[in-house]
Amino acid sequence: MKDALGSGRFGKVSMVIEKNGGGKFAAKQCACRRASQRQEFDLEIDIMNDLAHPKLLQLYDVIYGKADVTFVLELVTGGELFDRVCDESFDLTEQLAVKYIEQICEAISYMHTKNILHLDLKPENILCLSPARIDMIKIIDFGFARRYEPHKPLRIMFGTPEFVAPEVVNFDPLGKGTDVWSIGVITYVLLSGLSPFMGDNEQETLSNVTACDLDFDDESFDEISPEAKEFITKLLQKQERARPSCDECLKQIWLKKAAEDASSHRKSLCVAVTNLKKFVARRKWIRSINAVRAVTKLQAGLRKGGASITTEPCVSEAMKKLTT
Ligand code: ATP
Repeated sequence: MKDALGSGRFGKVSMVIEKNGGGKFAAKQCACRRASQRQEFDLEIDIMNDLAHPKLLQLYDVIYGKADVTFVLELVTGGELFDRVCDESFDLTEQLAVKYIEQICEAISYMHTKNILHLDLKPENILCLSPARIDMIKIIDFGFARRYEPHKPLRIMFGTPEFVAPEVVNFDPLGKGTDVWSIGVITYVLLSGLSPFMGDNEQETLSNVTACDLDFDDESFDEISPEAKEFITKLLQKQERARPSCDECLKQIWLKKAAEDASSHRKSLCVAVTNLKKFVARRKWIRSINAVRAVTKLQAGLRKGGASITTEPCVSEAMKKLTT
């Protein structure tokens, strides 16, 4: 086991090297004691085994311990996309943003053709392939992914407040549009550095989501094209069915115009990057708290010969209040 790569609500991720052969992988170790947790991980494994796409993280092996389960994953070395965008040497333009959003839509479109919803699309789940290929992304973390049967209503009560769709907050049936909403939020953040529904607290954020309270009033949008705003507006429609499919997203004017090399799409988005630095710092702070909780539970569980971590929904109390 080598360097730590990251951590999340479910445990820590480290780089590992295969003893025979020297292959490099990422190992995600998650505490798992209760049968219900084991079922959750089994579903994640089953779904990952069904996915083979260059933009989706591959699962190579699973190691079951007494009180934990370790996912042996494809190693992705480029770091998180939003961290790279904040690097001094990075020049964010609409044209580059289109390249990233296009890849996300392609990957999620593939999942949707298999009737699988990701349901946890957010900036930290989008990594850059390698330091040399920061223009290529990989989507990770299928812990909340679900199989979708069109005639069987699927409801969930988890996700990350800033990125979840109104139907999640309202505990209404989900669909492929639920992922499309999150892509809309990611696009908004990438182009402005601002989180469109962020409130002063979790409750307010969720209320803003259900009210679909969207605007482009901030000065950061002065440097953004009308096609980009139109794209975001289409994705962030309150009604899940009104949103375009991922394939339709790929045909939107914003993406096509950028591909044609429109000069307006090549301007550096300076205000967005300044805002993004604050956005990334705030998200890291929230995640570090979640990670400390997860690692503490993992260690406590291992000491006892069992772990006590839960697949804790981060939307938690505020969402329960909002939906009851
Ligand atoms: P969350 O709290 O977001 O649900 P999690 O516990 O499900 O987190 P992941 O999102 O899978 O964990 O991973 C946490 C972090 O570890 C990622 O944001 C990323 O920075 C890093 N990471 C995960 N998988 C890999 C990988 N295969 N290669 C490199 N880094 C990775």
